Amino acid sequence: MNNPTIKLYDKNISDPSFTASVLRHEGGVLVLDRTAFFPEAGGQLSDRGALYLPDGKGGELALTVTDVQIEDGVILHRVTLPQDVMSLLTPGTMLRGEVDMARRFDFMQQHTAEHIISGIVHARFGYDNVGFRLSENSCTMDYSGVLAPEQIPEIELSANRAIWDNLPVEITFPSEEEQKTLVYRSKKEIASDELRIVTIPGIDTCACCAPHVARTGEIGLVKIIRLQNWKGGVRLSIAAGARALALFTEEHDMITALARSLSTSWENIPDRFTKLREETRGLKREITTLRKSL
Ligand SMILES: [Zn+2]
Repeated sequence: MNNPTIKLYDKNISDPSFTASVLRHEGGVLVLDRTAFFPEAGGQLSDRGALYLPDGKGGELALTVTDVQIEDGVILHRVTLPQDVMSLLTPGTMLRGEVDMARRFDFMQQHTAEHIISGIVHARFGYDNVGFRLSENSCTMDYSGVLAPEQIPEIELSANRAIWDNLPVEITFPSEEEQKTLVYRSKKEIASDELRIVTIPGIDTCACCAPHVARTGEIGLVKIIRLQNWKGGVRLSIAAGARALALFTEEHDMITALARSLSTSWENIPDRFTKLREETRGLKREITTLRKSL
């Protein structure tokens, strides 16, 4: 039986740096006694970053962490291992680790926004979050009931109000006694040996092991970008924080370019477009008539 890895991210998500001791390695997979790297879990991709190994000459060798998984509480770091490094990785070797915090913060913004929306959807409609996927370019969540397009703006506005209220995101580890009276949402996909509760006061209480922002204001903004019917319920796609800004910038640039090419202002684009479509239809009819007469 392998000892579970000490999860430094459970209690401190803002510190990307740590030192750890090598327990073993096999085929480019490293096991350490402790780690700040969050593994892939509950539909969310893992942290990335680097591990730094003393090179024996007073310097360090960087090993890129490309993926992190968890099996029976043991965290497995997949690293790029140059051939000549193998001999340096003996059990007991001390390593320095650095988590890529830009990637983690982006994930924290999406993930915490998901809690807010799921809390609101659960409170208003009683639906459960039955699926969650978070990668570099998409964030989706599935609900057990149907939402109509007209219901989305109000959910979105409530979620953004919770962001602007800059509420604390509290992490607690309730005792078995406290768990008996605690009411919380639970995501079945997330396996946790220790119950970790994430509370956003007045919005959501949920069992979750992932990194979250410390206050909702750090999310900045959330936009619901897609609503689809999904297995008897719905799937929502969202963009939060820097992703919401990137999306806004992309759309803003596109509309500005479109307005310029139509020599009109933003608000006249739909009218200009309708007119152009009517003109095209008229021209097609004319061509057909002319062809017939030739
Ligand atoms: Zn969470």
